[in-house]
Amino acid sequence: MKFGGSSVADAEKIRNVARRIADARESGDDVVAVVSARGKTTDGLVADAMEISERPDPREMDMLLSTGERISCALMAMALHDLGHKAESFTGSQAGIFTDASHTKAQILEIEPHRLQDSLADGHIVLVAGFQGMSKLDKNVTTLGRGGSDTTAVALAAALHADVCEIHSDVTGVFTADPRIEPAAVKLLRITHEEMLEMAAMGSKVLALRAVEFARNYDVPLHARSSFLPNEGTWIIKETPDMEQAIVSGIAHRSDEAKLTVTGVRDQPGIAAAIFTALADNLINVDTILQNTGLHGHTDLSFTVPLAELGRAKDALESVRDQLKFEDVLTDDQMGKVTLVGAGMKSNPGVAAKMFRVLAAENINIDMIDTSTIRVSVVINRRDVERAVRALHDAFDLTSEAARRANV
Ligand code: ASP
Ligand code: MG
Repeated sequence: MKFGGSSVADAEKIRNVARRIADARESGDDVVAVVSARGKTTDGLVADAMEISERPDPREMDMLLSTGERISCALMAMALHDLGHKAESFTGSQAGIFTDASHTKAQILEIEPHRLQDSLADGHIVLVAGFQGMSKLDKNVTTLGRGGSDTTAVALAAALHADVCEIHSDVTGVFTADPRIEPAAVKLLRITHEEMLEMAAMGSKVLALRAVEFARNYDVPLHARSSFLPNEGTWIIKETPDMEQAIVSGIAHRSDEAKLTVTGVRDQPGIAAAIFTALADNLINVDTILQNTGLHGHTDLSFTVPLAELGRAKDALESVRDQLKFEDVLTDDQMGKVTLVGAGMKSNPGVAAKMFRVLAAENINIDMIDTSTIRVSVVINRRDVERAVRALHDAFDLTSEAARRANV
């Protein structure tokens, strides 16, 4: 069971979550619970560091950031004691979570959960501080990147062969679209790992992308549900042959995209490689990439990045300008992206065509298009994103489609 930061923000909420955990234990299950830092604690710690130093050392940053989750799980253990349960809390390193050494964005390499297993065998409810581990090589405290507690939970579920990994948060599940934008959006009963992976990569914030990747790779069933309500949420599971595949399961969007266009790029082998290597070396997350047809030995290359990375992406391109002799770098910081996701797209042609017709009827201009077998994405102006989400939700009839699938 994983509980997000807003679910443990104050004492009363901690006691509520402790009650949820105790109920699960009392129903006969062994329970390992992962908790995030309380409320905006992690943001506060980042701000503390920035107040002291402009470039805080990443190793020390991890020492600092890992404390938020330790507070939550110690308090949770105390609350469980008061409910009459045996409970023990553990840091990531005590839990045997080994990572690589990339501070503030470490990857889990392996988990040796012996201490957790012993504690469970002793009848404890086990609490683990989310979002952290220990580097395998030099035994330093590491953190897994913002939102990383989801990943801790899924990785532990895989290592402990749990029946399910429940992700509890302030949303009640995965919706057909963001309900703050489309009031007719409804909760999905279930969605495949692959679909959720696309949703998370394309802007859905219900689950961290890395956590979904882990769940897919290790076949961990996820249940995204509310911390406060007992209702079923959304099951995220492996695709099975008997599962009815939705042509469109959901719509993801992001409003924080920026586009860069490198003009007058020489049209010859190795140029794209050099450009994207420079970006990768600077850890820029490049998204949609588009290269024009060459003309007179030159071409234009466009791609999108998260808005927050625009400045660094520009710097990375400038660093190879002399070497590559391209003409210019044009930027647009007003982009957004809307994506349709559905496992049934694989066998149903015409989804993209319909999507483009709907956007045309709304007079929304498409800037870039990008697809996978189960997804169609369009890059459009940020001001059109919400309107596009609503129009597509309506045109693909997602409210009644989701209800129909929930009832079969
Ligand atoms: N506390 C960390 C963060 O705010 C990790 C998490 O919440 O999952 O990013
Ligand atoms: Mg959080």
